[in-house]
Amino acid sequence: MTRTQTDHHLLPTYARFPVAFERGSGTRLWDDEGHEYLDFLSGISVSSVGHCHPQVVEAIRDQAGRLLHVGNLYYTEPMTRLADRLAESSLGGGVFFTNSGAEANEAALKLVRKARQGGDIVVAHGGFHGRTYGALSATPQEAKQAPFAPLVPGFRAVEPTADAIAGAVGAGTAAVVLEVIQGESGVHILDDEVLGAARAACDAHGAALVFDEVQTGMGRTGTLWAYEQTGVVPDAITTAKALGGGLPIGALVTGERLADVFAPGDHGSTFPGGPVVAAAALAVFDVLDDEELLARVRELGEHARARLAELPGVTVVRGRGLMNAFDLAGGSAPDIARRALLEQRLVVNATGPATIRLLPPLIVTREELDDAVDRLGALLS
Ligand SMILES: *Cc1c(COP(=O)(O)O)cnc(C)c1O
Repeated sequence: MTRTQTDHHLLPTYARFPVAFERGSGTRLWDDEGHEYLDFLSGISVSSVGHCHPQVVEAIRDQAGRLLHVGNLYYTEPMTRLADRLAESSLGGGVFFTNSGAEANEAALKLVRKARQGGDIVVAHGGFHGRTYGALSATPQEAKQAPFAPLVPGFRAVEPTADAIAGAVGAGTAAVVLEVIQGESGVHILDDEVLGAARAACDAHGAALVFDEVQTGMGRTGTLWAYEQTGVVPDAITTAKALGGGLPIGALVTGERLADVFAPGDHGSTFPGGPVVAAAALAVFDVLDDEELLARVRELGEHARARLAELPGVTVVRGRGLMNAFDLAGGSAPDIARRALLEQRLVVNATGPATIRLLPPLIVTREELDDAVDRLGALLS
């Protein structure tokens, strides 16, 4: 790896590792020196079907040769089929397509404000919703927000507990926006009791409950949507990351109650839901919306958590399905993630000083899971 290290034309928003990847297939990546890596990050839960899944690549190739773009003043078949598939697999209302998770959340924030003609938005400490201004304002982390003040007004951050959320919701609340499992802050599961309290408080005051499923969606937790395992049904979800199989696409999906809030002219964007990304996403649905695969995600997740708990230095293991993290005593997680990449050729990520997160492709095998745990074990012992 030489060229990327000396490329000074990227703004330094990421502390990149000195590795340049060239090729991927399934759970494997290869760098420009020919080294093979086992990918347990999936580009942060994007490549859930694995790298270059043949059905996704074929769908992209086929659509790219027919039509790349017409914009949102017209219909295309991939767009309408994907909207149907998203709505019918979840809340049954309407879909607004975006290019990213942050933009899907922007759409959700505008929607809930319009529905309530204003109002506060209650969010949780530890939550992450993206880097654009609305999404950033919904992400109560000092380090991410402070340099960019003033933020969008009307956000209220509380601890993700039943009492705190119930206490924050009132007549002036437009929505509560939550991740069912907080991904970026280290895979923290919100208890069903907390989600149920949010649901009840929203119902009592006419506010909307929005779940950000950008990271948890598309099968990551062992059901197509993470909310399916919680007993709580939100009024809208947002999705992105794994939806396009590696191409950029996101979506806001509403239930019936919020399906008529937006009128022509209220919101828009040039690219979203284009035929190529929509064709890719339909192929992703064919792979991931599969009960056998989802059952295996749940089963492999249990196996992974049991094995991770036995590693030396591991104090806590958290997760659901194949969205998992473990804590290490001391602040060594960033160093372990770096050495996993450079010494063990295992791609994982540290979400903080003490936490390693594992987000393998959902097509991972039990042998590959064991292999990854063994590589981590070699570093930790
Ligand atoms: C990644 C993420 C986002 C932001 O998505 P982008 O595509 O990076 O804008 C929002 N919410 C959650 C829960 C995420 O994990």
